[in-house]
Amino acid sequence: MKNQQERRTIEFIAVGSELLTPYFLETNSLFISEKLQELGWTLSCKTVVSDRLEELKQVIKIAWRRSRLILVCGGLGPTDDDRTRQAVAEVLGTRLVFRRDILDKIRLRFESGGLKMPASNRRQAYVIEGAEVLENPNGTAPGLWLERKGRVMVLLPGPPSELKPMVENLVLPRLKKFGEVRVLRSVIRITGAGESMVEDLIRPVYKSLPAKLQLITLATPGDVQIRLEMPVGGGRPEAQEKAFSRVKERVVRLLGDLVYSTEGQPLEKVVGEQLRAAGRTLACAESCTGGLLANRITNIAGSSDYFLEGLVTYSNRSKTLELGVPEELLGEKGAVSEEVARAMAEGVRKKSGADFALSTTGIAGPGGGSQVKPVGLVYVGLAFPGGSTVTRNLFRGSREQVKFQATQKALDMLRLKLRDMQKEAGLK
Ligand code: ATP
Repeated sequence: MKNQQERRTIEFIAVGSELLTPYFLETNSLFISEKLQELGWTLSCKTVVSDRLEELKQVIKIAWRRSRLILVCGGLGPTDDDRTRQAVAEVLGTRLVFRRDILDKIRLRFESGGLKMPASNRRQAYVIEGAEVLENPNGTAPGLWLERKGRVMVLLPGPPSELKPMVENLVLPRLKKFGEVRVLRSVIRITGAGESMVEDLIRPVYKSLPAKLQLITLATPGDVQIRLEMPVGGGRPEAQEKAFSRVKERVVRLLGDLVYSTEGQPLEKVVGEQLRAAGRTLACAESCTGGLLANRITNIAGSSDYFLEGLVTYSNRSKTLELGVPEELLGEKGAVSEEVARAMAEGVRKKSGADFALSTTGIAGPGGGSQVKPVGLVYVGLAFPGGSTVTRNLFRGSREQVKFQATQKALDMLRLKLRDMQKEAGLK
């Protein structure tokens, strides 16, 4: 088997009993694996272990035996349950040595905030003999970089606000000494088709994939991502780049209109850029999505340039008062109907003066459905200069998933409309 440095893999250990409870999510590995990817590294394995010394030592012992590069985070704090340094020193049969310069820095950090350093922080001035100290500008626990017999173990503090800058500024540059690999990457995002349909459509691509190109499909309700990754190395990088582009272009061609981004951008960002480029404005009136659509639109920095207003008109009364949806229409067709979705979109467009308006009305579930109007039925409306259109959709999944899919559909209707209008303008 090729060794770990050749395969460019790293073993990851997160230390902290709190990470084994339902209240804390282990997220450092996600950040680290994303950053490593950019340099052509991947995680070979990740472990979450409690603060208990014996368990911690066991995990470190196994990792030290099987891996050449190990990244440990957490348990470097000043309290009794922070035992990572001790565990590593015991497994490696080495000593912890006191470093006055580290203690002085920790004390200074407290004093510059007008505080006296608690005695317990003295623990953090003990480092594993022979380890290089990695400065932690955002906390008191320094990191450690340890090299022994061709193996590397890196210890980092657990809090993400401390770990992230240390990974970016100290760990990644040091990893470069193991050689750099350029990775070509593209994230193609699709909506309007499920994973199996996407797989069917792109099946021809699999027949001629370059050996080093990895194609991964990730699907959630309403959104499918195709991640293409290929390390460039050895001879003829131009040929490899060309092969990568060919696959990417072929995937995009096979999926056609379903593709909304080839750069991994969320749909709300793509639509926002279209609106900005066209100099057009948007408003929305939501019922079953309860503000999620406006929330997504406004998650994009600078959305005030094109987003005028979003109303949550949940009750029939509100639909009438705020949007002018006729009471008789609500009585005759019901709030979840094509006609009401259209009246909502047209109503908010008129009220706001926006160029485009979106509306949602449906049954997010889990209750409230009937045979004629089942759970997951959502009408999505789009009003635009010179007309309006409504789609009838049957979404599956939890309440949150139905709501998300409805907003995805709304944004996608607008994306396609804006694209068509742009095409028409180009033809004139
Ligand atoms: P410090 O003493 O400066 O807090 P530390 O290295 O001892 O550093 P921990 O005590 O292990 O850090 O973790 C502190 C907090 O950081 C945890 O309670 C948790 O909120 C967060 N944290 C730790 N590890 C992780 C992780 N792997 N993913 C996400 N959050 C984490």
